[in-house]
Amino acid sequence: MDHFLYRDGVLHAEDVPLAEIAASVGTPFYVYSTATLVRHFRLFDEALAGMDHLVCYAMKAASNQAILKTLAAEGAGMDVVSAGEYLRARAAGVPGDRIVFSGVGKTAQEIRIALDGGVRQFNVESEPEMEAISAIAASMGVVAPITIRVNPDVDARTHAKIATGKSENKFGIPIARARDVYAHAARLPGLDVIGIDVHIGSQLTDLAPFEAAYAKVAELTGVLRADGHDIRRLDLGGGLGIPYTRGNEPPPLPSDYGDLIRRCVGHLGCEIEIEPGRLIVGNAGLLVSQVIYVKSGEDRDFLILDAAMNDLIRPAMYEAHHDIVPVVEPDAGADQHAFDIVGPVCETGDTFARHRMMPPVGPGDLVAFRSAGAYGAVMASEYNSRPLVPEVLVKGDKFAVIRRRPTFDEMINRDTIPEWL
Ligand SMILES: *Cc1c(COP(=O)(O)O)cnc(C)c1O
Repeated sequence: MDHFLYRDGVLHAEDVPLAEIAASVGTPFYVYSTATLVRHFRLFDEALAGMDHLVCYAMKAASNQAILKTLAAEGAGMDVVSAGEYLRARAAGVPGDRIVFSGVGKTAQEIRIALDGGVRQFNVESEPEMEAISAIAASMGVVAPITIRVNPDVDARTHAKIATGKSENKFGIPIARARDVYAHAARLPGLDVIGIDVHIGSQLTDLAPFEAAYAKVAELTGVLRADGHDIRRLDLGGGLGIPYTRGNEPPPLPSDYGDLIRRCVGHLGCEIEIEPGRLIVGNAGLLVSQVIYVKSGEDRDFLILDAAMNDLIRPAMYEAHHDIVPVVEPDAGADQHAFDIVGPVCETGDTFARHRMMPPVGPGDLVAFRSAGAYGAVMASEYNSRPLVPEVLVKGDKFAVIRRRPTFDEMINRDTIPEWL
């Protein structure tokens, strides 16, 4: 459920007509709904009620400070994967002890920044990383809390580029080696080994892979405790999928996911963390764009938009589907026409949809990409020297630009010319 609905014939973000934002900000732009963000966070928080838990928002999905502050005010922790994300979370007012540091290639500088500012735990992904964290912590006179990310070798049944829990993926340590690796960690002076971490992939639309992974984590908890490790926290990752196509079978609800967690690991007496990203912000954001031209081709018609793959790369990168709807509500029963919907970038990959049935739209009309809140603005670039797409946050009848569009001069002047030119 989201808060983007037609009212009086115009698509609104909560109580604000999108045409009003477009007139003020220009297109393309991302717009987020506070009510939707908060609602989705609370669904997870409530799903884990009764268990000692923290929902750590995986901020790589959308990392604007205003989004982080909105979620932090609800009690969210953050899952970060770089020093930049760590510092962004801190700048948004999130205390270090609510920040989990994930990622397969943390550098010495990143480890130092997190230890210096405080961190809830590092989710460690390899033995060399474990040794590096221990050495850095010891040199700073501190002890680093860690979990170790195990790779449970389950098939998440999602797009290959976002599956992470198979033994062929670069993530975590093989679960079969866990006892050795935990024994190694326990011998290192700079570490406090507090738990187990697992994250099997993104956009999962079925609970079975989670169940398979969490059953392995529960079993491993017993084994490691018997080996003398004080396993007291389980980080169960993120990955619950969202409905990208209206009318399709919807993915499982956070409440079903919470019940599964309770069933698989609730009896272990561990503190539970989860790291959802996409489900919190995905349906809380739209990308709004304007039609520039309608072009008739040999065997198809093209809708050419002012948004492109540099603004929203998911269709080009993951063959992702986004529903694309006109901002002015079409008449019920309006004729539908098939278009290839494309951007202006000089690549055939800059195609948002093929043979998409659309109601009548023409040059100057606004269209909205639904479910664009996650992995949208954060993956945007200035490819083709198109200034970075701005972001807007709506709350009730108010809206604010939370990242403005750079001017052409700002974009150009980021380059510097060597003295010999
Ligand atoms: C990307 C990622 C997440 C979030 O995944 P979603 O599918 O957005 O919920 C959580 N944890 C880790 C370690 C990740 O890499």
